[in-house]
Amino acid sequence: MSKDGTNALERFLSDLESLFSVTPQEVREIMFHFHEEMRRGLAGGKSSLKMIPSFVGRPKGTEKGDFLALDLGGTNVRVLAVALDGNGNATLAAVSRFVIPSETIGGAGDKLFDFIVDCIQSFLKEHHAGMPQAYDLAFTFSFPVVQRSVSSGELICWTKGFTASGVEGKDVVALLAEALQRKGMKSIHVAALANDTVGTLVAKSYADPSCDVGVIIGTGTNACYPEKVARISRLPELRASGEMIVNIEWGGFDKLKTNVYDNLLDLSSNNAGRQKLEKMVSGMYLGELARLVIVEMIQKRLLFTEKSLPAFSVAYALTTEHLSMTAHGSDFFDDFGLADVQEADRQTIREICRIVSTRSARIAAAAIAAVVAWMDADLESNHTVAIDGALFEKYPGFQDNMTDMLFGVFGDRAKKIKLELAKDGSGIGAAIIGAVAASARQ
Ligand code: ADP
Ligand code: MG
Repeated sequence: MSKDGTNALERFLSDLESLFSVTPQEVREIMFHFHEEMRRGLAGGKSSLKMIPSFVGRPKGTEKGDFLALDLGGTNVRVLAVALDGNGNATLAAVSRFVIPSETIGGAGDKLFDFIVDCIQSFLKEHHAGMPQAYDLAFTFSFPVVQRSVSSGELICWTKGFTASGVEGKDVVALLAEALQRKGMKSIHVAALANDTVGTLVAKSYADPSCDVGVIIGTGTNACYPEKVARISRLPELRASGEMIVNIEWGGFDKLKTNVYDNLLDLSSNNAGRQKLEKMVSGMYLGELARLVIVEMIQKRLLFTEKSLPAFSVAYALTTEHLSMTAHGSDFFDDFGLADVQEADRQTIREICRIVSTRSARIAAAAIAAVVAWMDADLESNHTVAIDGALFEKYPGFQDNMTDMLFGVFGDRAKKIKLELAKDGSGIGAAIIGAVAASARQ
């Protein structure tokens, strides 16, 4: 490449770095706006943070029994059998994972729930031995829901690319119960509905009382924390003592500086104008952001050759798993039919992936910083943050980037914040919530 070409490439990458930068000072501003939105959301005012009461508090660690949990994430359905020993130990006795076909994500709502019940049936077929005849089932549903009680709630709007018809505005527990009836599975009772963040917080705090934030960084992103009931003024009938976990729905936070790629992605998404933070952070979108950068760089002759353009022309063909491969020192070029990739292009791709994924981790850290500071402005106590989701778990360096930002914002006091993986926490926690709900019925 000519000297000019090199300079143009360096300039482009350095501009890209600025477009995706998030500094500790900017994080402090984000935290300020986050707190304003939290306050408005708790009061039931107009806010990009929905602040949904969950009707659940943190567990005592003494909950006991065997439970089925069903976890509908963004990409997978997981069915889990969980054993609680009443001593803070939750054991995953069995788990099966099913990928949701794209025609089910975008088809009729009834078919989606039939598919979910089919997953439960396959799970029971495979793991039936030693399991009781009748089950209490806890349903982890990772979408924004207005909860009316621990075992009912209406879907506000689909996120993460879901469009299944006839579900928005409906009680998803009733839809699941109807599908169970249709398939003759009358021995299963849906005891609890939980958001995945709430499940994650509950799962970790079953054994660790200093756990007070539950976070998801997977296909989507969101978090919850225990709030003083007296501060949830949107539900005046709840004015009482004690705490209740609040599902923030932080994916909707919209006070962030966006760039040209964020705006392109948003405009061509099926929920334009919504889930702004989620689109900058979560696994569903990072690959697409990188693809938009790659397309522009090919067009500007800064990367590959023009012949490679069609390979990158399909929206969402580049995934977060692909980006993750470059951080492992591997590459995704085979999947795009590219042979003999030059070392310089390889490096450019690695840079793009690094820039996009680092911003994601920094914004996730900013949101966590905001939630922790809301509860404990001077970081006087320890805070375990339970995090579930494959992006956090599997992207090399993601957690370190988050930790670096927490230290950038809080200095040494950031030591009080522990980020911990809560694998399958969303399902295990739902089972604990199910245990509380089932014992309350007796
Ligand atoms: P869900 O969000 O559906 O409950 P997961 O927590 O398993 O499920 O997250 C799946 C998402 O995580 C995928 O959509 C993808 O974006 C991201 N992901 C999966 N594998 C990896 C990986 N190896 N590295 C980084 N991100 C990954
Ligand atoms: Mg999940």
